[in-house]
Amino acid sequence: MTPPGVPEIEADWALFLDLDGTLLELAPTPDAVIVPADLPSVLACLSGGLGGALAIVTGRARETADQLLAPFLPTGGFGHGAELRDAVGAAVGDDTVPAPPSAWCDTLTRFAATRDGLLLERKPHGIALHYRAVPTQGEAVRAAMQALVLQAPNDFVLLPAHMAFEIRPRAATKARPVTALMAAPPFLGRRPVFVGDDVTDEDGMAAARDLGGLGLHVGRDFTGGPPQVRAWLARAARRLTQEQPLAQS
Ligand SMILES: [Mg+2]
Repeated sequence: MTPPGVPEIEADWALFLDLDGTLLELAPTPDAVIVPADLPSVLACLSGGLGGALAIVTGRARETADQLLAPFLPTGGFGHGAELRDAVGAAVGDDTVPAPPSAWCDTLTRFAATRDGLLLERKPHGIALHYRAVPTQGEAVRAAMQALVLQAPNDFVLLPAHMAFEIRPRAATKARPVTALMAAPPFLGRRPVFVGDDVTDEDGMAAARDLGGLGLHVGRDFTGGPPQVRAWLARAARRLTQEQPLAQS
């Protein structure tokens, strides 16, 4: 069942979907997420039903998102929008966003090495430090990372995530892929709908609303969590491809 207040997906929508916590249940570590076997084919099918206007917008690196969703190769924004890929698989303006200095990564690697249970995740445009295994270390992680960001506060921000903090380029937000992709086919002229679960998704939701669309929040709108989001997508994939049989290739 679609939850109250969530409309069924329409053929003229452009969908922007967060990955972790939205399509996938959160796991103790980022590597431990489980991708349901039918998710890539549901996404491919639904993308066909939407004329290709389906994007994944995630904090994950592009390579990681590709591995998780293979063989589906998503259009979208990766590294919180630091890296964009359009509907024909081309990179979009990803050279304008700086990566954190490698010295910061070295500092945080040493920091994590002195504390059990912390997990450093190096991304092309960011650094995340996960403390899910040791929640009492959250404040120490925040302080260590904030001290680095204060060395270049115009270029980088520290953002809270689920049991993690992440340093990311200030220019990289989840609004960036929404705005960039909506400017060209097959997204152009559609109604953008962004679905996410996290504080970083709020930028994407706001960008979708600014363009006349919707922002849906997993915690507030899909109380059944990622399984309910996936069922909503699967239902639309069946319905929209039945209505447009030529899109079923
Ligand atoms: Mg998420």
